[in-house]
Amino acid sequence: MTNKNETLFARAQKTTPGGVNSPVRAFRSVGGTPRFITRAEGAYFWDAEDQRYIDYIGSWGPAIVGHAHPDVVQAVQEAAARGLSFGAPTEGEVLMAEEICHIVPGVEQIRLVSSGTEATMSALRLARGATKRDKIIKFEGCYHGHADSLLVKAGSGLLTFGNPTSAGVPEDFSKHTLVLDYNNSQQLEDVFQSIGDQIACIIVEPVAGNMNLIRATPEFLQTMRRLCTAHGSVLIFDEVMCGFRVGLQGAQALFGIQADLVCMGKVIGGGLPVAAFGGRADLMAHMAPLGGVYQAGTLSGNPVAVAAGMTTLKIIQQPGFYEQLTAQTRKLADGLTAAGQQAGFDFCADAVGGMFGLYFAAQIPDSYAAMMATDKDKFNRFFHLMLDAGVYLAPSAFEAGFVSIAHDDAIIETTIAAAKQAFSKL
Ligand code: PLP
Repeated sequence: MTNKNETLFARAQKTTPGGVNSPVRAFRSVGGTPRFITRAEGAYFWDAEDQRYIDYIGSWGPAIVGHAHPDVVQAVQEAAARGLSFGAPTEGEVLMAEEICHIVPGVEQIRLVSSGTEATMSALRLARGATKRDKIIKFEGCYHGHADSLLVKAGSGLLTFGNPTSAGVPEDFSKHTLVLDYNNSQQLEDVFQSIGDQIACIIVEPVAGNMNLIRATPEFLQTMRRLCTAHGSVLIFDEVMCGFRVGLQGAQALFGIQADLVCMGKVIGGGLPVAAFGGRADLMAHMAPLGGVYQAGTLSGNPVAVAAGMTTLKIIQQPGFYEQLTAQTRKLADGLTAAGQQAGFDFCADAVGGMFGLYFAAQIPDSYAAMMATDKDKFNRFFHLMLDAGVYLAPSAFEAGFVSIAHDDAIIETTIAAAKQAFSKL
């Protein structure tokens, strides 16, 4: 019998590089055939074979209220009926900006864009424009989208500027990006002591979700806050993933640290393309048309996408939303940890708000190096055993997972039971 996922994947590869529109979807890291999704509801989605999965990706973060939430679908349908895009301002954008400025600490003004990549790219340009400096600092293992300045890995020494991680990124760009170790405050101190007056900004995932889940230490974030203030550099929290995810007010509230600029995405679009960057009004005043930092977008603030985002923002502010999301995610992490350890594996899991990480390691990793040392082969086999049991985890050992408010006790228990079976076969 022909497997429809395989058939679609073979067809896709003829007209799309690797058969996918974003590389991780191709299952290259775990091997096997990607599932082609036909529909989704709540905590589940179904593939081309009509196989149902408990979804722990949630579109890589946006589906926090569960797939196809009736209120979100209705808002999208109503907005679409009024027209898809105008290229002129709408009241919806005003309401959304007011809502986000109200929720996110220190964000006095925002600009809506269509992807997290645009948000970080524009925030960097703003930081460089405002400080009139070129050099930026990022951290190994953090992903901030695919802008040229950010597809950069560490150079050979502390003060050596980075090397491109993608073909097509000129070294002339990467030479302005300094890549340091996550959770290493001493490196930050050393770099700022030498060239602090040349640094336009630090960009950081304050809870990292792109090297699996790694928590920043409070001291690491406090150090960068202090150094940025002392040296006139801009602190950018990239909360595209952890914003509205680790808690309503994101990592800033979790750590009690205020960034100068915050990048947002995923949840604020509710599954449609909305992202944003925002922060101090004096910084945002550098943006065109007020100031000299240019940025624009044909579909920025798209009315249908804003309707999905605004409805999602309303749902996540309902009383008890984050308490429940956090409790369910913790239940999952603890249940998986117990299942793995009882089966005799070096295995643990961690959760922050509605994000979680699974690690084939004796201890929860706290650095990129520790994360890279986890057992990737075991993860890959575990991934496929879970997939066969109808549980869809991130198809890579180096990605975080996501729980939605639709993941109820029964679903979490089914997942843990599937994991027990998987560990017994591993
Ligand atoms: N920043 C972070 C922290 C992300 O996790 C991502 C995407 O996963 C991005 C930026 C880029 O967002 P997008 O894929 O919407 O361009």
